[in-house]
Amino acid sequence: MNAHNENNPWARAQKQLHNAASHLNLEPLLRAKLEHPDRVIEVSIPIQMDNGAIEVFKGFRVQHNNIRGPYKGGLRYHPDVNMDEVRALAFWMTMKNAVVNVPFGGGKGGVAVNPKELSENELERLTREFTRKLVPLIGPHLDVPAPDVNTTGKIMSWIVDEYSTTVGMPSPAVVTGKPIEHGGSEGRTEATGLGGSFAFLSFLSKLGKTPKGLKVAIQGFGNVGSYLALYLEEAGCKIVAISDSKGGIYMQEGINVKAAMRYKEEKGALAGFGGESVESDKVLELPVDIIVPAALENAITEHNAGNIKASIILEMANGPTTLEADEIVKQKGITAIPDILANSGGVAVSYFEWVQNISNERWSKDEVFKKLKEKMEDAADKVYATSVKHKVSLRTAAYMVALERLASSSNTSADNQHRMLH
Ligand code: NAD
Repeated sequence: MNAHNENNPWARAQKQLHNAASHLNLEPLLRAKLEHPDRVIEVSIPIQMDNGAIEVFKGFRVQHNNIRGPYKGGLRYHPDVNMDEVRALAFWMTMKNAVVNVPFGGGKGGVAVNPKELSENELERLTREFTRKLVPLIGPHLDVPAPDVNTTGKIMSWIVDEYSTTVGMPSPAVVTGKPIEHGGSEGRTEATGLGGSFAFLSFLSKLGKTPKGLKVAIQGFGNVGSYLALYLEEAGCKIVAISDSKGGIYMQEGINVKAAMRYKEEKGALAGFGGESVESDKVLELPVDIIVPAALENAITEHNAGNIKASIILEMANGPTTLEADEIVKQKGITAIPDILANSGGVAVSYFEWVQNISNERWSKDEVFKKLKEKMEDAADKVYATSVKHKVSLRTAAYMVALERLASSSNTSADNQHRMLH
């Protein structure tokens, strides 16, 4: 991938950083630290397949920055995973954790693999071998992975088990997103979607609108897209289109989200659920009020941005809008609620899970959701106020909030360094 290509997520992350930094008096040393990840790790993962053949997969982990706390971010299993993608996703985690104000830095990782082609035993061997390669570099106070695209609570449990066995002590806090019976938090499964709905509703009220009857189209109906759909439906919106990688459906009268979730769970895809079929990516061009990219990067590009009819984009995927598309969206007067804020509910509840693990506590779902609501609304308020004060987009404002928080943490460390030297 060409590092200067605008569709390259890392090139885009750099531009977003420079853009927000231009509104602030960002210290050159901090800027250099954010432009260059702390550590970039590539590992080989040889495993024996069920048929006896040996295959070697490539695994990645980027530890972008830990000024505000341990590196934190998901692990993705997807054939397209590559270092530039992981580097950008790790950078976005640093920013996201600062926006939602959890004491974590940013990290991200993944394996270039199509997990759907592996048996469960092969997937377990792959995960355990990947974990062994990462053991010296991860840990509850060092780097805490989590689920992302195609990784699940079960995969997190294998990581905890392998890590704990290798270091010789139970270490549930080495990852978050675990199943509840293995130390996971109530509410983590729903967290990203629910957090997105809190952020959305908060902005909507600032824009003087109510959710009742607003039409929503969602690209991606996995963990994030499906729970977001559920909570927006609960808030009074009408979910008229959803899609997954195999295709999409459109129902003018509104989709019953719970029924669609059950159908997808049973059949593995949405196709055949009912309504009119739509191409996966075309749901973003439908005549609706809100579109939600909730699949992968680069869903909104210069090729389709011009066709958007919605007035709000709720970015639940990481990095769904290219720089060129962002300009088109701005010119069209569309409000984009940026990824680093919209999808930060997942990491907020990951933080709650981590706190429960290290303090041996168990919080109820109501408690978790209440704390999540507070975090999301605080972040939305701060981002909105910054955007009004500096007359910048919500995206630039979110980066500014993150950079200000990073700068104040970094000043503390600089003082410490200074004290240590004198
Ligand atoms: P997932 O694997 O559960 O779901 C991904 C969904 O996207 C699947 O339904 C898949 O079929 C669909 N998809 C893939 N390509 C598509 C395409 N071209 N068109 C339509 N649908 C397509 O993953 P997830 O956890 O829901 O993550 C989705 C996005 O949200 C990713 O960008 C991820 O990084 C981001 N995210 C996830 C979390 C989390 O807590 N899971 C937190 C923050 C951000």
